[in-house]
Amino acid sequence: MTAPAPAPDPEIAAGLARVRAEIAAAAAAVGRDPASITLVAVGKTHPAERMAAALVAGQRVFGENRVQEARGKWPSLRARWPGLELHLIGPLQTNKVRDAVALFDVIQTLDRPRLAEQLSAEIARTGRRPRLFVQVNTGEEPQKAGVAPGALAGFVDACRARHGLAIDGLMCIPPVDDDPSLHFALLGTLAARLGLPGLSMGMSGDYGLAARFGATHVRVGTAIFGVRPTGPATPGP
Ligand SMILES: *Cc1c(COP(=O)(O)O)cnc(C)c1O
Repeated sequence: MTAPAPAPDPEIAAGLARVRAEIAAAAAAVGRDPASITLVAVGKTHPAERMAAALVAGQRVFGENRVQEARGKWPSLRARWPGLELHLIGPLQTNKVRDAVALFDVIQTLDRPRLAEQLSAEIARTGRRPRLFVQVNTGEEPQKAGVAPGALAGFVDACRARHGLAIDGLMCIPPVDDDPSLHFALLGTLAARLGLPGLSMGMSGDYGLAARFGATHVRVGTAIFGVRPTGPATPGP
């Protein structure tokens, strides 16, 4: 497959500029360096042409929530833009671990011992070492993926000691009906306690708030690419 012709898209460029400006303003408001906040442009359900337009506008870090979709979309884009960075932000089934380790630079959704074990084996086998974030179910929602806050320290210990995995940070998706600041603050506290530098939190509706609460990665789709055409309108479980 060849990469789509890299045509600019003024709306995507404007969306990126707006989001970057809001991140900079939020960082300034709390005395943070805006460069300490990475914008992860979430491309799920949008075609490769729109990713190419964001790349043309200078964006280099992207998120996808499905391994299958990423596999169809990103190898040709990466061939043209070797410096891009791809994050998995959706649930990872153990039978997709091989593809995920091959495709992604960062996996943000490590959330169970079996997955830690499989990732560890695949990393040893391939020598490819994606950076890892542990997803935390800060709202303790039964339908949502992620480690419960009370089980987090034990899980991170096991990842490090038993599976030899380096953990870079924590990720959360707050419950839709809660004040997200409670969840952002909790994730920050948990990360500080465990000595983890990375904090992936904040989406289109609240990335400015997340940046004020210490996010190092904000995951923004709709505010850049517009409303998603089809497929999952909300984050996966
Ligand atoms: C889709 C998705 C996002 C981006 O959501 P928007 O509201 O479109 O910005 C962020 N994080 C995760 C885990 C997602 O699945």
